[in-house]
Amino acid sequence: MAKIEVNSEKCKSCELCITVCPLGLIKLSDRFNSVGEHFAEQHDADKCTGCTLCAMMCPDFAIEVYK
Ligand code: SF4
Ligand code: SF4
Repeated sequence: MAKIEVNSEKCKSCELCITVCPLGLIKLSDRFNSVGEHFAEQHDADKCTGCTLCAMMCPDFAIEVYK
């Protein structure tokens, strides 16, 4: 089983990771980071394949993938 962790302080809410996840497992949080951005977070982590597309797409290197 794989999962991702998003560094909420690096995330600028560009939504690229949301667009690229083939399983639609990422959404913007209802919470804010310290600069007022709705950071990305994963849901249904048990479905994550660890494909790393989201991490490769993130321009701010905010996503780590754990397999
Ligand atoms: S690793 Fe792949 S399946 Fe998992 S959240 Fe990222 S894009 Fe989606
Ligand atoms: S691609 Fe990176 S910066 Fe953009 S929403 Fe996803 S985690 Fe945040």
